Amino acid sequence: PDHRQIRNSADNSPLQIFVKAKKKINDIFGEIEDYVKDSVHYMQDLQKEPNILDKDAVTKTEEYVRKVHGIRDVLARDHMKVAFFGRTSNGKSTVINAMLRDKILPSGIGHTTNCFLQVEGSPNDEAYLVLEGTTDHCAVESVGQLAHALCKEKLSESQLVKVYWPKNRCLLLRDDVVFVDSPGVDVTPNLDEWIDLHCLDADVFVLVANAESTLMVTEKNFFHKVSTRLSKPNIFILNNRWDASANEPEFLDQVRRQHQERAIDFLVKELKVCTAKEAEERIFFISAKEALLARIAEQGNTSPSMALAEGFQNRYFEFQDFERKFEECISKSAVKTKFEQHSQRGKFITNELREALDAIYNDAQKLRDDKLLQRKELHNKVNYTEQQLMVITQEMKQKIHNIVEDVEQRVSKALNE
Ligand code: GDP
Repeated sequence: PDHRQIRNSADNSPLQIFVKAKKKINDIFGEIEDYVKDSVHYMQDLQKEPNILDKDAVTKTEEYVRKVHGIRDVLARDHMKVAFFGRTSNGKSTVINAMLRDKILPSGIGHTTNCFLQVEGSPNDEAYLVLEGTTDHCAVESVGQLAHALCKEKLSESQLVKVYWPKNRCLLLRDDVVFVDSPGVDVTPNLDEWIDLHCLDADVFVLVANAESTLMVTEKNFFHKVSTRLSKPNIFILNNRWDASANEPEFLDQVRRQHQERAIDFLVKELKVCTAKEAEERIFFISAKEALLARIAEQGNTSPSMALAEGFQNRYFEFQDFERKFEECISKSAVKTKFEQHSQRGKFITNELREALDAIYNDAQKLRDDKLLQRKELHNKVNYTEQQLMVITQEMKQKIHNIVEDVEQRVSKALNE
């Protein structure tokens, strides 16, 4: 597919709900940050004048700068996370590889995933892995190297290895989807620890089941535990290895119906995580191996290296259908769980800031009114004094006049006498 086609399909992808929301909320927080900084500068200027601002209001606003900055940091790292679980060899790594359109994770015999593997987009378009608790980057160019690097380390099954893969090689990674592959649920007694360490922030869980057998108690148990810790987790069930059914076409419909009914019962009646109608959109019959082969062939513009079993097209369509429903679900869920909190905080901060500025405005208004009143009182006093002075002066004048007249009279009287 040429570049334009890839870009078009990327822009139509439901993942864009998350990508666009992330950009928007980032922009909004950028504006909030400017607004908070402006307010701080304004307050610091005001503080130079005595009696206008109390110190606490300024300190409080300065703290918002740090808070908003913190939120922007978290936002930049926010992503959509999908975690894959199931029994060993059901095909978890193969499903992830098919979605990533490349053999990134080692799969198959001898490559049992014995730790948690997280695949995410590399910030610098280089491929490397980082072991949990270290900062060393170990460069990897191929699956072979990755498998080798993983075998070399003594890893415990709850440990996490982060695989950073170039974003330009995969749209899902570019759009901030993070994949987590787990050791088989059949091999561990540490399910609780797994859930605490790796599952609580997952937006979507994918149970990779084996269509050649029924859901196992261990698989069910794990999801029972998950649903006690998280309210209504988003769970998809992939009945993988559905290509095996091509060998027995006469039982195909019957087997499918049976798996479907059990899976619906599991989600609806046992876990109570969704309605029967929703469950229909969460259960798929696929062949990850075929999907991976087809995708690798598509990219190399060749035909698959292996003959594909009867019914391949239908299974491949169903795989693509799964991907679309998955993308819709994960991006909506991530927007809700991740951005709802941020927007509440953003609202809280802007409200607090508005109240602080309103308070300054009101105080300033009050100060002005007080001064006006003082001035008026002073004015009145001056007026009164002036009037008094006038009265007094008038009286004095009169008195002096009288005295002068009196003296004149006396003098002229004296002169006459
Ligand atoms: P994991 O342990 O769950 O990660 O399983 P893997 O992805 O490593 O797969 C185990 C083996 O099953 C590998 O040899 C895969 O090639 C094979 N496999 C995976 N998916 C399918 C499938 O859909 N059909 C068939 N026939 N084989 C598959």
